[in-house]
Amino acid sequence: MKILVTGGAGYIGTHTCVELLEAGHEVIVIDNLYNANEQALHNVELITGKKLQFYNGDIADETVLQRIFEEHTIDCCIHFAGLKAVGESVVKPLEYYDNNISGTLCLMRVMGKYQVKNMIFSSSAAVYGNPAFVPITEECPKGICTNPYGWTKSMIEQILMDIYRADPSWNILLLRYFNPIGAHKSGMIGENPNGIPNNLMPYITQVAAGMRDHLGIFGNDYDTPDGTCIRDYIHVMDLARGHVKALEKIQKKDGLAIYNLGTGTGCSVLDVVRNFEQATGVKIAYTFEPRRAGDIAACYCDPSKAERELGWKAECDILEMCADAWKWQQSHPNGFADVQ
Ligand code: NAD
Ligand code: UDP
Repeated sequence: MKILVTGGAGYIGTHTCVELLEAGHEVIVIDNLYNANEQALHNVELITGKKLQFYNGDIADETVLQRIFEEHTIDCCIHFAGLKAVGESVVKPLEYYDNNISGTLCLMRVMGKYQVKNMIFSSSAAVYGNPAFVPITEECPKGICTNPYGWTKSMIEQILMDIYRADPSWNILLLRYFNPIGAHKSGMIGENPNGIPNNLMPYITQVAAGMRDHLGIFGNDYDTPDGTCIRDYIHVMDLARGHVKALEKIQKKDGLAIYNLGTGTGCSVLDVVRNFEQATGVKIAYTFEPRRAGDIAACYCDPSKAERELGWKAECDILEMCADAWKWQQSHPNGFADVQ
């Protein structure tokens, strides 16, 4: 199939491009490089030995989207493009609503115009808010999001559902990711945060590399076995493979569906630290800090619907996730600014 990957130069996008190319798909990427480096796409080509086509553009720019749809017969869009920094979204809500929602509306309009009605959307466990129950199934009601970023995901899901209800010839998959970490085995692509990382794994790898003094663990008084928060960490390559499986599903043309993409295993912050130390032999200094606003005690999924209906299951364990994240960090301490 010929796939338009929006935000394809980013963290999850590049790993998915690798899997798509290796599965024999043709890949067209649109990315405005707001949070990415074109070198990442060159590395995707080096890893796979295959070419992709890149458009440096914004999904809110109808002209560039129309050019893409004129120049290619797209079969499906995998839509990663968006702003994703939770804390920043609280400070800059307008930018987040505008970029994520207006961008998606523009994309859907142009897709509809060119009769390309197959859409795979990057949603998030954030739409469950403080989940009504764990493990979270897709039947769990959506909740109150704790930040504008989460609301953009929740609102875009609603918009896509309404578009589907109005026109059931669309095929739409809403993929709710849990906590993607790790990197491609080659160490040639990985997560490349700007400035001080907000997320746990890049913070840990930077402590391990000596770039930061110690990890601050946000809260050790949660109602969990060791008092630290529990999340469902998933290897980014497993997540990437989930998109290839989602494409197989979309070819069956059975409308709209929602899938949780996680491992189903909850890991506490301290579990992650210990597993990182075991996988790499590097000790992580940490202190306990106050809780971070908006964090919830436990968030992990029941991924059995994806296994049943997509034939997909996460394969990698937390040790492998830590080892691969460390390999990327060591080979690219300054992200894609480093020479290969
Ligand atoms: P990322 O920031 O690495 O990738 C997003 C890409 O989109 C970037 O390359 C950025 O330059 C691009 N982009 C942003 N706005 C754009 C626009 N208007 N036009 C064109 N390109 C634009 O993020 P990621 O971690 O790869 O996440 C990909 C998607 O998955 C996002 O939608 C994110 O919200 C979602 N998601 C991520 C996580 C996570 O923990 N990483 C969890 C759940 C959901
Ligand atoms: N966390 C932490 N210290 C950090 C970053 C994160 O203790 O420097 C914790 C955070 O409180 C949460 C977990 O690690 O319990 C995962 O956080 P992350 O931001 O990676 O993902 P989230 O689940 O919040 O999207």
